[in-house]
Amino acid sequence: MAARRRALVIGGSLSGLFVGTRLLRDGWDVRIFERSSVELSGRGAGIVTQRQVPATLRALGLSVPAELGVDISRRQILSRDGQVTATAEKPLRATSWMLLFAILREAFPPERYELGRDLVRVEQDEHAVHAVFADGSRATGDLLVGADGFRSSVRPHLAPDLEPLYAGYVAWRALVAEEAFPEDLHRQLFGFFTFGLPEHQQMLGYPVAEGASPSDGLSYNIVWYKPTDGASDLPRLLTDRNGRRHDMSIPPPLIADDVVADMRARAKAAFAPQFQQALELAGRPFFQPIYDLETPRMVAGRVALIGDAAFVARPHVGAGTAKAADDAMSLGDALRQDRPVAEALLAFEAERLPIGRRIIERARQLGTYLKRDFASEAERQAAQPFRDPEAVLVQNAVLDFL
Ligand SMILES: Cc1cc2nc3c(=O)[nH]c(=O)nc-3n(C[C@H](O)[C@H](O)[C@H](O)COP(=O)(O)OP(=O)(O)OC[C@H]3O[C@@H](n4cnc5c(N)ncnc54)[C@H](O)[C@@H]3O)c2cc1C
Repeated sequence: MAARRRALVIGGSLSGLFVGTRLLRDGWDVRIFERSSVELSGRGAGIVTQRQVPATLRALGLSVPAELGVDISRRQILSRDGQVTATAEKPLRATSWMLLFAILREAFPPERYELGRDLVRVEQDEHAVHAVFADGSRATGDLLVGADGFRSSVRPHLAPDLEPLYAGYVAWRALVAEEAFPEDLHRQLFGFFTFGLPEHQQMLGYPVAEGASPSDGLSYNIVWYKPTDGASDLPRLLTDRNGRRHDMSIPPPLIADDVVADMRARAKAAFAPQFQQALELAGRPFFQPIYDLETPRMVAGRVALIGDAAFVARPHVGAGTAKAADDAMSLGDALRQDRPVAEALLAFEAERLPIGRRIIERARQLGTYLKRDFASEAERQAAQPFRDPEAVLVQNAVLDFL
C-alpha cells in the first residue's frame, strides 16, 4: 500500500485549520504547527463573513450552528447631526472569529495540532520539503502550506523582498455589549449596518456574535477608518505607554492613554450622536494600521501560501475568512488530481492568484474614499465611483464583484 502523503501546515489559525481539515479528509497525513505556545483565542473583534464560510464548513462535514452569527439586511447612513440620509437593503452576516475557530479546532484531531512550534526556515529538495523550527527541530513532508498570516515566515521562501504597504489610514475598533445599550439607541443602531461618512473618513457600526458559541450573545462592533499620516502621526500612535516604539502594530493594552483620549475627542467632533453614545459605552478602543500585502507568487516547488500569508486586503471587502476557505478548498481540489505535488500547486496558483489580486484591487478602490491626494487627475477620476456615500453604502462588505 502506498504511504500516505504528508502535509506540514504552518499556522494554526483559520487558514491552517481549513486546509488541515480538507487535506486530512482527502487522506493526507497532516500536522499543523502553530507558533503560539498557548491556545489561540478571541481576536477581539467580530468579523463580517461571506457565504463561502458556512458552505466550506459544511463541505468539510463540520456541524455548523443554524445561527453562525447575526444576519443584517438593512444599511443606513447617519449624518453628523444624527439624521438617516440614505438606506439600502443589502444583506450581511456578522460572526465572531472565535466561533469559526472553535468549530474548526474542535473537529481537528488534537494530536495533529502542535502549539509552540515556531517555523524559522523552509528547505526543499527534489524528494521532500523540510520545516525547520526555532528550537532546532525539523519535520519532513511532501507538501508544506504556509498559513502563517500577515507576517508569514514561509513567505520569504517564495517572495523574499515583499513588504506590506501602509494604506495611509488606521482602523480604530471598539466593542459594546448588547446589554449596555439603552433601548432607544438599540432601536436606532442594532438592526442595521450603519455608516458615518464625512469626507475622507468612515465609521461603521454593526452587531456581531461575541464568543465561541452562538449563545454567547451579541456585541456592537464599531470601526473607524481614520487617515493617519505614515511619517508623522503613525509613529506617535505606535509609541506605547512606556515610550517604546513598535514596528507595524501595537498590542491593544499598550496603546498610550493620550492617543486613546485624542481618538475619542476627534470621533465626537466628526460623527453622529448615536455613534458618540455607542463609543462612550464601549470598552477601551484599539487601532490597527491598514496595509496592503500582495504576493507575486503563491507556490514554489512543494510549498504553497494561503490566506493572509499570501494576500492581505484592506478590510472593506470583508473577504479574509472567505478567501482563507476558498484557498484551502482550491488547494485540496488541485491536489486530488493524480499528478506530482509541484504540478498540482501550479494549478492551484493559476486559479487563486488572479482572485487574490482582484480582492486586493477592489479593497484598494473602496479605500479611495479615505484618500485626499491623488497622483494624477486620471487616478482621481478612476476613484470617483467609490467616493459617493450611497455607493459606499452598498459596495462595502460584499464579494459579488468576483
Ligand atoms: C482588524 C482586522 C479585521 C478583520 N476583519 C475581517 C472581517 O470582517 N471579515 C473577514 O472575513 N476577515 C477579516 N479579517 C481577516 C481574517 O481574520 C483573516 O483573513 C482570516 O482569519 C485568515 O487568517 P489566516 O489564518 O490566514 O492568518 P492569521 O489569523 O494571521 O493566522 C496565522 C497564524 O500563523 C501563526 N504563525 C505565524 N508565524 C508562524 C510561524 N513562524 N510558525 C508557526 N506559526 C506561525 C500565527 O501565530 C497565527 O496563529 C480581519 C483581520 C483584521 C486584522
